[in-house]
Amino acid sequence: MQAAVIAIHGGAGTITRAAMDAAREREYIEALQHVLQAGQRILADGGSALDAVTEAVRLLEECPLFNAGKGAVLTHAGTYELDAAVMDGATRDAGAVACVTRLRNPVLAARAVLDHSEHVLFAGAGAEAFAQAQGLELVPPGYYFTQARHDQWQRARGNTGMALLDHDAAALAAQQPQGTDPLDADSKFGTVGAVACDSRGNLAAATSTGGVTNKQVGRVGDTPLIGAGCYADDMAAVSATGTGEMFIRTVAAHDVAAQMRYAGLPLEEAARRVVMEKLPAIGGRGGLIAVDRAGNVTLPFNTEGMYRGVARVGEAVNVSIYG
Ligand code: ASP
Repeated sequence: MQAAVIAIHGGAGTITRAAMDAAREREYIEALQHVLQAGQRILADGGSALDAVTEAVRLLEECPLFNAGKGAVLTHAGTYELDAAVMDGATRDAGAVACVTRLRNPVLAARAVLDHSEHVLFAGAGAEAFAQAQGLELVPPGYYFTQARHDQWQRARGNTGMALLDHDAAALAAQQPQGTDPLDADSKFGTVGAVACDSRGNLAAATSTGGVTNKQVGRVGDTPLIGAGCYADDMAAVSATGTGEMFIRTVAAHDVAAQMRYAGLPLEEAARRVVMEKLPAIGGRGGLIAVDRAGNVTLPFNTEGMYRGVARVGEAVNVSIYG
């Protein structure tokens, strides 16, 4: 019997202790702990890695602290476009949705694609129609709204005109003098993901996001692209967060498993090379979480912080934020 384990992330970026107050830090820690405990219970009951990561990401989408589902960031046009993916390492079945605007839980739509479709990736209105036919919940765009995200978007448009990593936008806001800033230092959010190894040694990964703040309409990041922001096979399960374009160009999540398979690298070294060497070489910022069949877990990031945690069945959950 394998010692089952789940790891989660809530996004990476400019997350510093100096910009966080104790109450908000506690909120994040408790949210991460709650999600880890739910995943841990599924694994302890003999559930699959696939079910554990799907449920963990669904819970993270429900939490407005993170940039996925409720609490998603805004596009340049002030709209919401969400991406999600899920992959089963045991079968290499995968499902994903991109640019969806009306789904309460994009990860459940991705899972429905995995379970019930011959296809892997659906986009836009077709993804929503597929999800609706599967009985999944549609919501009005206002469902995703949070005041903090909205203010963050306005600041990103005004200050830089560029698309920003969620946590970097929050940090930019935090640089403003106290009292003048609608998005203060304690407003930090993030893309979410989970990886797990179940008691049979099967692996799975799931990732979900609102993307980067102030992105162009129609932009799709790494999250729903199998191999870029989400990947699982019999070597490793990987979920990524960061500047999506560079994760696409390095095929980051797949590269972790590929280096293990072809170069015989251990999980930790394969992940380190992707996050600390290959991504920075093209300006990529962010991190990833990864697990292998032996239950080894690694959570590297090249930013100031990454919301993250690990829970092994039968052990206390372990949550961290800063570097
Ligand atoms: N990787 C995501 C994207 O580019 C953003 C993030 O991880 O915060 O859409």
